[in-house]
This record gives sequence, structure tokens and C-alpha cells, in this order.
Amino acid sequence: MTSKASITSAPTVMKFGGTSVESAEALRRMASIVADRSGERPVVVVSAMAGVTDRLVELTEYALQGQLASADERIDALRQRHLDALGELSGDRTGEAEAAILALFNALGDLVRGIAAVGEVTGRTRDAVLAFGERLSPWLARTALLAAGVRAALLDARQIIITDDQFTHAQPLWPESQRQVEERLAPSIEQGAVPVLGGYIAATRAGVGTTLGRGGSDFSAAILGAMLGARRIEIWTDVDGMLTADPRVCSGARRIKVISFHEAAELAYFGAKVLHPATLLPAMQKAIPVWILNSRHWASGAPDGERTGTLVTTRAPRTRAPFKCISCKRNVAVIDVVSTRMLQAHGFLKAIWDVFAQHRCPVDMVSTSEVSVSLTVGDTTMLPEIADALGEFADVRYEGRRAIVCLVGESLRHTPGLAGQVFACLGDINIRMISQGASEINIGMVLDDDDVPRAMRLLHDRFFADLDPAVFA
Ligand code: ASP
Ligand code: MG
Repeated sequence: MTSKASITSAPTVMKFGGTSVESAEALRRMASIVADRSGERPVVVVSAMAGVTDRLVELTEYALQGQLASADERIDALRQRHLDALGELSGDRTGEAEAAILALFNALGDLVRGIAAVGEVTGRTRDAVLAFGERLSPWLARTALLAAGVRAALLDARQIIITDDQFTHAQPLWPESQRQVEERLAPSIEQGAVPVLGGYIAATRAGVGTTLGRGGSDFSAAILGAMLGARRIEIWTDVDGMLTADPRVCSGARRIKVISFHEAAELAYFGAKVLHPATLLPAMQKAIPVWILNSRHWASGAPDGERTGTLVTTRAPRTRAPFKCISCKRNVAVIDVVSTRMLQAHGFLKAIWDVFAQHRCPVDMVSTSEVSVSLTVGDTTMLPEIADALGEFADVRYEGRRAIVCLVGESLRHTPGLAGQVFACLGDINIRMISQGASEINIGMVLDDDDVPRAMRLLHDRFFADLDPAVFA
């Protein structure tokens, strides 16, 4: 990844998630926030309106099952939702946005009928359907921005982010994308316009549409931010930032004002849904600060974390409390694999990983001994097949309804004896597996899913009672 930002002052990349563009009201708020940043050369990346991508997934299923009437009903509802939002905004004076939205829905209808006709769908076609949410929402965003007096310029993300052809989870090709950023995006910023692009969508070198994986708009923002050498990447959402625990599971959770990339990555990996894990990499490599901000409560001016927001940065301050956050990933399965053949330890591990790789099943936590391995997976759909394949060379047992609880914090590295305190605090709760990651910034354990609320409360009360005001709100 090279950055030759030909831009005199670094832009701010602002990504608005689905809830931040879900209605005319949300879009107007988005436009005020962007207008407030007008001195910072903003670049706006938008997700599909909330729920639209899920509806597109459903549509594809209806089409596959030949239920065209149901598919058409969904398309009509989506069209109406976009037109209603557009109608409530006053920026589409020439009717250009309305014509574009209607044309996109016609194209979606054709595509869905095509899927129904052939009765099958390739990754490429799937991505073509999934892309509609992020092809539509920029028209609404542009309209709202124009109405707010912002000189918005619509750009097609599929001409800027160039990827390989792993449809539904494509990976960016950096030099190609960098070239497009310099040729198409940078000049628009130079001319004083505010570029508006859909997140999540991209295209191959040959111009075939791809997507970056569900939740991928964050990734789009990070890719563009890194390539532009942005001063800051802002992820606008509907929560106040990252919290010390999931408030639905644990009352008294507090907002984290500042957290390191490593800590945030660990959290994203173990269940916190606020940030897409891959988001962090490009920003982290370029040391670009990432802010998570609430578009429903925002304050004018650069973010400072006093009212809302979490800053994700290279180096977060050391804290009195050893941990920044507790996360949990619920309803995972634990698989125990015991070697039956006299495979060498390394051959045994390789054989296990090969099985998971062949089934494209990500493993979250692992603990091993000479002859046995325990691991957890979040996606249990392939478990019977995986168990069969492992059964060729091992005894296999698996059990569902488990959960991973994970404590994360960089101060963990410098605080001896913490694991003991964690387990002591959990009292009689049965701990099924333990891991302290190589990153040395998390302690993870597997429990019965039913024990999660009690465990989270015990841990939160014990480790988050006395918090530094510089780091926690
Ligand atoms: N709209 C896409 C999704 O729902 C991408 C995103 O919102 O980040 O997965
Ligand atoms: Mg998201």
C-alpha cells in the first residue's frame, strides 16, 4: 500500500452506517454533520439504508425458489422506501436522483427475474444483487447534502476500489485502487467538492461488481482513508461508541473514550459488533485515528470524546484498571478432537486445520495438549460434516450452547496475577476452556451460554468499579 496523497491538506473520511441514512430525518442529520466538517475536505461513504442488504439477501432466496411474487413485493417496498425518503428531502430539483433510483430498481427487477429463470445463483450474481443498497443510498445522501448547501459529487465506488474476484468477500488490490483514488477521487476533493460513495461495493479489474463482505462499508472507509492519507476516519453509527460491556447483558456499562487498534481488533474479533474487524488494518498500518461516533447525538466541531465517541488509535493511555472491556460471543460450539492415530503432534494439528479450511469454517479459540485439541466455532452449520472429516483420524465430540467471554486490555501485559483474580471472581461458574492470546492483551474463556449474564456482571463489578476519567466516560 503506497500513499502519494496529492492533496494539500488531509481529508476526513466520514462513513455513515445504515441507521445513519435510514430515513429522511437521518439523512438530514448526516448532511448537517458533513456540513459542519466542510473545512476538513470531507469524503462521505454511505452504507445501504438500514435493513436493505438483508432484504436483498431474502429477495435472492425468493428468486431462487421461483417465488417471484414475493420477490416483487419486496422490491416494491424497497422502491417505495427510497422514494419516500427522497420525496421528503428537497435537494432533487431536477429529478435526477428520482430517475436514477427508478432505473436502479428496474435493473434489480430484471436481475431477480433472471435468477428465477435459471434457478441458480453464482457469487457474481449474488454480489450484483447485494450491491443495490449501496448503489441507491448515495443518491439519497447526495440529495440531502445538496439541500444542506454542501457541494456533493457522486462517485461510483466500483470505479475506485478495485478487488480480486472472490465474490461476496473480495479483497482490495492496493496499487490499482490507489491509482483510481488519485485519478478519480483526489481531483474531486481538490476541486472543493464533497465526494459521496457507496461503501461495501467494489469491482474487479475487468469492471465486474464485487462486495467486501457483510458489514464491509467500514472497510471501504478505511481503504479510502488509508489511500488518501486521511487525517481521521469517522465511523458514524447509532451508539455512543465502544462500551466496557454489552449493555443488554450487563447494566452499568461505560463508554470507552480511547482504545488502541490492537484492543479494538481483539474486541471486534470476539463479538463486539460496532466495528468490522478488517476495518482496522488499513487505518492501523497508516496510523490514522478512527472515531466511532453517534449520529443521533453529535456536537459541532472535531470529535473530542467528551460527549460521545470512541477514539481508536495506535497508542492508548495506560489505565489503572487492567482491562478496557469485556466482550462475549454467544452460542458458540466447542469441539474436542483427540488423536487416535499416532500422528506426530504437528501432523495432527495440520490435519485438523485442513479440515476447517476445507469447510471454510473460522475457528475462534484454541487450546491444545500433545494429543488433544479443543476449539470453538461460531458458525455451527457445517459441524456434522466437519466432525465426520475429523473422525477419519481422531475422536471427536462437540457441544453447543457455549459462549466465549473475553477480557481485553493492554495493561494486562504489565499486571501479573490477573488470570488468578479473574477466575477467583467467577466463583463456582464452570470454565470449560481458557486462553490467553499471543497478543497478551486478552484473557478468554469458554462458559455455558446460560452463565454469561452472571459472569459478565461479576467481572464488570470486579474490574470496572474504579475507572480513569481520561479513558472512560
Ligand atoms: N450494507 C452492507 C451490509 O449490511 C454493508 C454495510 O452496511 O457495511 O452488510
Ligand atoms: Mg456496520
